[in-house]
Amino acid sequence: MSTIAFLNIGMHGHINPTLPVVAELVRRGHTITYHSSPAFREEIEVTGATVYLYPGGDQPLPDPPTPVTWMEALAGTTVRWLPAVLTDLRRDRPDLIVHDSACLWGAVAARELKVPAAASFTTFAFNRHVPSPTRGSWDLLAAARTRPRSVRSYLRSRWKLHRHFDTGGLPLLDLANIRQPLNVVYTSREFQPAVEDFDQSYRFVGPSIGARPVDLSFPVDRLQDPVLYASLGTVFNADPRLLRTFATALAPLGGTVVVSTGQTDPDALGPLPANVLARRFVPQPEVLARAALFVTHGGMNSVNEAMYAGVPMVVVPQGADQPMVARRVVELGAGLSIRTQEVARGSVRALARRLLHEPGFREAATTLKAAQHKAGGYRRAADELERYLHAAGSVRRPVPVDPSQRG
Ligand code: UDP
Repeated sequence: MSTIAFLNIGMHGHINPTLPVVAELVRRGHTITYHSSPAFREEIEVTGATVYLYPGGDQPLPDPPTPVTWMEALAGTTVRWLPAVLTDLRRDRPDLIVHDSACLWGAVAARELKVPAAASFTTFAFNRHVPSPTRGSWDLLAAARTRPRSVRSYLRSRWKLHRHFDTGGLPLLDLANIRQPLNVVYTSREFQPAVEDFDQSYRFVGPSIGARPVDLSFPVDRLQDPVLYASLGTVFNADPRLLRTFATALAPLGGTVVVSTGQTDPDALGPLPANVLARRFVPQPEVLARAALFVTHGGMNSVNEAMYAGVPMVVVPQGADQPMVARRVVELGAGLSIRTQEVARGSVRALARRLLHEPGFREAATTLKAAQHKAGGYRRAADELERYLHAAGSVRRPVPVDPSQRG
C-alpha cells in the first residue's frame, strides 16, 4: 500500500471533488495525507486522511480576485508555505503527490522531492476553447500594466523560488494550469469542449460524487412534483432580490420550489408563496435527484451534479468560469442561459416553461447523464491514480533528504 499526499488551494470547489477520491483510496488501504487550510479540516478528516495545516491560518482570497492578483498570491504563498510543506513531506515520504492544477507549491514540492505527481482539474481542462485565466495573453499583459506592484511581487516570489527550489519545467505564467504526466479532470469527455485537443495524460473521470452527511432536518418526503430547484452556490453573495425573483417566477409552475440561499439569509427574501422552501443549504444531490429543472449560477460542481441527475438547467452565470460553463450547457442543448441583468419574473418563467415543456432539453440532459455516469467518478479517479502509481513505482528514486539536515 502507498502513501499519497494531496495538496490543494483553499477553495471548496477545488477540494470537494477530491474528497470522495481520498475516501476511496483510504478504503483501498492507502495512507493519505492532505495539506489544507483550517476551514476545510473537518470535512477532509471525515475521509480518513491525515490533515496537515498550512502555516498562518486561513488565507483570504486575493482582492480583487483577478488573474494578476491570483498569480501574485499563488507565487507568494508558495514561497511562504513550501518550507513547512517540504518538512511534512520529507517525514512522510509519499509515493505520489496529487495537487490542484493551481497549487504551485504542490508541483514544486514534487519536483524538489522527485516524487511522481498528478494534477487535479476541477473545472474544465484548459485549451483553445477554455482558456486558462492565467495564460500569457494581451489581456493578461494589459491587466498587469494596471497592477505594477502585483507584478513586482510576483517576479520577486518567482525569483526566490527559482533560487531555492527546483522549478524547472513549471509554467512561468500559467499558474492555474500546472500539468503533470497524469491530469485528472472532474467532468466527462462529452462536457469538455474540444476534447480531441487533449492527449492521453488527461483522464476525464466525470463528477466525483460521494456519500454526504444525511441532513435529517430537510423534509425530502414532503417535496411535491414537479420539484423546481434554484441555487446560486455557496461562494457568491447572492442578491436576495434575485433569489426572490427565482422563487416567485417558478412557484406557479412547481409542486415544490426549493431555493438554496447560500450566504444570504432566507428571511431577506421576504414573504414567499406557500410552495417555496428556502434554506441556506440543502442536500443538493438529493434535491436534484427529484428535480425537473435547476436554476443555477453555473458553478462547475453544481452543473456536473445536475448533469449526473439528468436535470435541464437555466444558467445565470455570476462570474469566474461560469459564463464558459453556461455556454457549454447551452451548446449541448441541456439548458438555457440568461444574464443577471435580464433576470425578471417573466423572463425566468418563460425559460423554465420551455425546459419543462420542450422535450429536447430533457433528452439532451439524459444523454449527458449517461456520459457523466459512464466517466466513472471517484472510483475511476482512484483507479487512475493507482495505475499511475504502479507505473511510476518501477522508476521511482528515493526521496532525497533535506540538505540542511544532512549529517
Ligand atoms: N451545495 C449543496 N447545497 C446547497 C448549495 C450547494 O450541497 O444548498 C453544494 C453543491 O452540491 C456543490 C457545491 O455546494 O457541490 C457548490 O459548488 P459549485 O462549484 O457549484 O459552486 P460554488 O459554491 O463553488 O460557487
